[in-house]
Amino acid sequence: MAVNPDRLKLPQFDARRIRRDFPALAQKIHGHQLVYLDNAATTQKPNPVIDALTDYYRSYNANVHRGVHTLSELATERYEAARHNLAQFIGASQPEEIIFLRGATEAINLVAASWGLANIGAGDEILLTELEHHSNIVPWQLLAERVGARVVVAPIDQQGNVAPETFSRALSERTRLVGIAQVSNALGTVNPITEMIRSAHAAGARVLIDGAQAVGHMPVDVRELDCDFYALSGHKMYAPMGIGALYAKKDLLERMPPWQGGGDMIRAVNFTRSLYADPPQRFEAGTPNVAGAIGLAAAIAYLKTLGMEAVATHEKILLDYALERLVMVPGLRLIGTPRKRAGVISFWVEGLHPHDLGTLLDHAGVAIRTGHHCAMPVMDHFQVPATARASFGVYNTQEDVHALIAALNQAREVFGG
Ligand code: PLP
Repeated sequence: MAVNPDRLKLPQFDARRIRRDFPALAQKIHGHQLVYLDNAATTQKPNPVIDALTDYYRSYNANVHRGVHTLSELATERYEAARHNLAQFIGASQPEEIIFLRGATEAINLVAASWGLANIGAGDEILLTELEHHSNIVPWQLLAERVGARVVVAPIDQQGNVAPETFSRALSERTRLVGIAQVSNALGTVNPITEMIRSAHAAGARVLIDGAQAVGHMPVDVRELDCDFYALSGHKMYAPMGIGALYAKKDLLERMPPWQGGGDMIRAVNFTRSLYADPPQRFEAGTPNVAGAIGLAAAIAYLKTLGMEAVATHEKILLDYALERLVMVPGLRLIGTPRKRAGVISFWVEGLHPHDLGTLLDHAGVAIRTGHHCAMPVMDHFQVPATARASFGVYNTQEDVHALIAALNQAREVFGG
């Protein structure tokens, strides 16, 4: 499919200008201007996010919720404002539906340990797709082992799609929970989650969406999706490391038991028993990542100024542009050719192990990721031990694609088979 180059010059979306907001992108690597194409692993951080972090630590660092002094009140106000902003950004009906956590991994583990342990028993089924990141596999295996449940897998086809009919067939009256990545971090597949959620609900199952690769790349509305749980990761959406969140429907959260005990998650404690706080505090034991939440709010504000529709369009155009050119590199094989794709391209270059390719590209200043991408079942499906993966963000440009292609051609000419 040909891409009209004029469409790449979206007047409202100037990736070259956006790039200047990210100080880490200004550096040279091995004498070359850095081309950062490892956004699926983590994104770079814009100045407003870095400023929000330093501002917190410089001027109002304090613990939240229990303080009556000015700094603690200010920190609490900003921390809770971040919850409000995130709720609004993903379409939650109220801030109390947002639990701040370390990342998507912790969010999924919370659901397995709390809702899962209370609602999944012997003989029940947990349905996942073959595309899932290990974060959305292992917590369910741990739970299944503990309670005698079974993990069932909806397979992908040769292109890397989960066909809706295959998915529906894998549902049964024993399915209690369905876990689906909105976007695959290994292949970029965008799953048809609206239909999948609908059919899972019709079968009586609850649905957790792993949105780690989605929220920073496209508009997300959890209420419109009607998912029961949504896990997200701050560091993949231009926010700091160590902050992420779980969205869960309020009626579910209210009935879920705590998963970790400690300060801030209780109403009262004595040695006979403890009374737990309401959500979200019930699920946020201990001192939270206050700076991280404030940084996440700054990242959301930044993304809102760009507009999520515009972000999605920019990345889609760039992805199509990159795909068109990548397939012209001799010996390059795409791993996965999904019907709908976002942000990620996995590939293999004949005669070059992905790890060697990654190192050669790094010497040309191009940062990509190589390996199994914490999605070993996907590697098994395509019978490769690893792939090279280029993944895109708001600051990537056509020049970045050109640099990638040039570095690939050079690596292949010098070292390839
Ligand atoms: N799910 C997917 C699809 C991912 O790509 C990742 C990280 O690569 C995770 C979950 C884990 O996210 P986090 O780093 O926030 O724990």
